[in-house]
Amino acid sequence: MNKADSQSELLDFPPHLPLALRNRTCVYCGLALMPRDRTREHVIGRCFVPDGKLQGQWNLILNACRPCNSHKADLEDDISAITLQPDSWGAHGHADVAAIENGHRKAVHSRSRRTRKSVRDSGERINIHGSLGPGIHVSFQFASPPQIDDHRAFELARLQLTAFFYMQTYNSETRQGGYWLHGYHPIMTANRSDWGNPLMVRFMRTIESWDCRLHAVTADGFFKLVTRKHPLAETWAWALEWNHNRRLIGFFGERDPAQDIVNSLPRLEAKTVYQAPNESLSYRVETPLGEDDDTLFLVFDDETALPDD
Ligand SMILES: [Zn+2]
Repeated sequence: MNKADSQSELLDFPPHLPLALRNRTCVYCGLALMPRDRTREHVIGRCFVPDGKLQGQWNLILNACRPCNSHKADLEDDISAITLQPDSWGAHGHADVAAIENGHRKAVHSRSRRTRKSVRDSGERINIHGSLGPGIHVSFQFASPPQIDDHRAFELARLQLTAFFYMQTYNSETRQGGYWLHGYHPIMTANRSDWGNPLMVRFMRTIESWDCRLHAVTADGFFKLVTRKHPLAETWAWALEWNHNRRLIGFFGERDPAQDIVNSLPRLEAKTVYQAPNESLSYRVETPLGEDDDTLFLVFDDETALPDD
């Protein structure tokens, strides 16, 4: 496997065309592909974003083995349906009526792997009844939209990042791409209503001066990705946004430089609202991110210059 070329330039893609590779090894597991187990893989699944959003827009298409392709499609199915649902207040991060309707349809047809029910019926509710002393009864009810398990979200992110890294290190003579060395270090995922939490904001500010290695905003903004390289180490920071709804952040590559940054990020404090001998309930207030403060996916042609007004 090739080590990533640390000199690789930021790539510019024609925004209206997918990039198609004829790679000989599975992009995800590196297996040499025989014709019978070779599948064409759309790295941003056509069904992952709302229907038709990738029509005439940039995507990455390459070869993958059948088991890897199915594994990724399974992750995409409910993660797509769930990230197309409104938040607890019924709001979407976009005003695209067709995408909202598409989200309704997906909620009926897709099954949440977490609740084993349809996404439509997977909103979560917690009822707490208790007593704080003689005659003092308390009752709380919390409701949330359908949730995805973080480990599944991070696994889908890992596959997408692996494919883009493979593309960036692709050798058209050997028809193979490379893989990052060391590890994959996801940090957190957050719903839109929490993109401004102190940890996400510090991460964004820490990496914004790093050299941008890949910047992809496609499917009318329903898919966003940025990777930036640590100035001194073989460590990359990455951020993804899916369906204007969910962001994920982390690193890949050398662990220690990533760990140093993670150690410097603020801890997110939870407040305990209810405590009984055998149970307790804590919550953390979410912090939205103002549009003017959001630079996570902003990349300027000359990053040393300020953007034009
Ligand atoms: Zn594979």
